[in-house]
Amino acid sequence: MKKCPKFTFGVGDRFAHSARAQLQAFIEAEQIGIPITPVWNKSNREHEIIGSEPQQTRDAADQAVKDLGWSGDYFLDADHINLGTVDRFVAPCDFFTLDVADDIGTAADPADIEAFVDKHPELIGTIVIDGLSAPLEITRERVEATARQFLKATQKAKAIYAHIVEQRGGIDNFVTEISMDETDAPQVPAEMLIILAAIADQGIPIQTIAPKFTGRFNKGVDYEGDVFQFEQEFNDDLAVISHAVKAYGLPETLKLSVHSGSDKFSIYGPIKAVLARTGAGLHIKTAGTNWLEEIIGLAASGSDALALVKEIYAAALAKKDALCQPYGTVIDIDDAQLPPADVVGGWDSEDFVAALTHDPTNAAYNPHLRQLLHVGFKIAAHKGSRYTQALKENQAMIAQCVTHNLLERHMKPLFG
Ligand SMILES: [Zn+2]
Repeated sequence: MKKCPKFTFGVGDRFAHSARAQLQAFIEAEQIGIPITPVWNKSNREHEIIGSEPQQTRDAADQAVKDLGWSGDYFLDADHINLGTVDRFVAPCDFFTLDVADDIGTAADPADIEAFVDKHPELIGTIVIDGLSAPLEITRERVEATARQFLKATQKAKAIYAHIVEQRGGIDNFVTEISMDETDAPQVPAEMLIILAAIADQGIPIQTIAPKFTGRFNKGVDYEGDVFQFEQEFNDDLAVISHAVKAYGLPETLKLSVHSGSDKFSIYGPIKAVLARTGAGLHIKTAGTNWLEEIIGLAASGSDALALVKEIYAAALAKKDALCQPYGTVIDIDDAQLPPADVVGGWDSEDFVAALTHDPTNAAYNPHLRQLLHVGFKIAAHKGSRYTQALKENQAMIAQCVTHNLLERHMKPLFG
């Protein structure tokens, strides 16, 4: 496997025009003593909505690295792929996020479940783990129930992993992540331990794991939930991971991956404190926050660019249900809080920027409008070259927004 650096940060470049501005944030972070490795991620869903190919993301990332003289590591993440969608990602990517959410809850063969439970008597009883707030108490029934819930998903992950290795000519020179975030129920630390044992049994050299945490991780807006409980769960997951690394021989680089990680301002402080206390690494995945900065940059540019983003908002509002449909577990929009298109039509640059910019201290900030535009990139994709041309024409303003957002709102609070 290719070793995953300690701190990795996923960024999304939906229209392949912002990689340089994104990389600039990593360069500036490094200059102030925050070494983070960039990972460009784009899911199959995003490629389908935009009509792009993974190779284009690779080309944009490579070009940015060349243009800015970045000499550190960087990765390209095939984000949320499965057996049916992985093939076009195999050549350009070196980081694979195996999405097994669809198989969670599908029971594996009863004989496999029984064999798993019999193989792991150490999972039953009182398990004392260093750094855990309280010992885990796990019954045989609990191990069985968790295996019924997750064993099939780990078998599916193995099939995807093996397929990637085979397609790459038998070579595992990439980072493997397993994601379970897009499900309804959070995975508690006891389940995490059982899942990691099952992943180890499958022989997957997993280096990052994305559980579903307690609370809402809505796209592009702050965390909603009990911050104290989150901190405890995050801490306990890390304790379970370092225990599982030793107990099951998983890679020492194994770390947590926080999906929909952009803009979760209220948990960055707790995450930073836990990382400092434990010495653990982190992968954080962001994507759409970047596209929103493009929209903010366009709105700030005024004239035709402002008119274009108003048009995008009006169209997104008209197609709201269809746009939101694929994102059920990760958005939360109150229709009553969405301003009508004709109201937005009357806004100037400042109004639009204030409503969209994620500044919780600004009374004009509207998280509902922000989430709608977050999923509204399909509308921009339909505008084709009219949108990408606007990105080119207003590049300086947009780049400033993109770099500032990553560096000031994300990297410094998390790692600074
Ligand atoms: Zn995810």
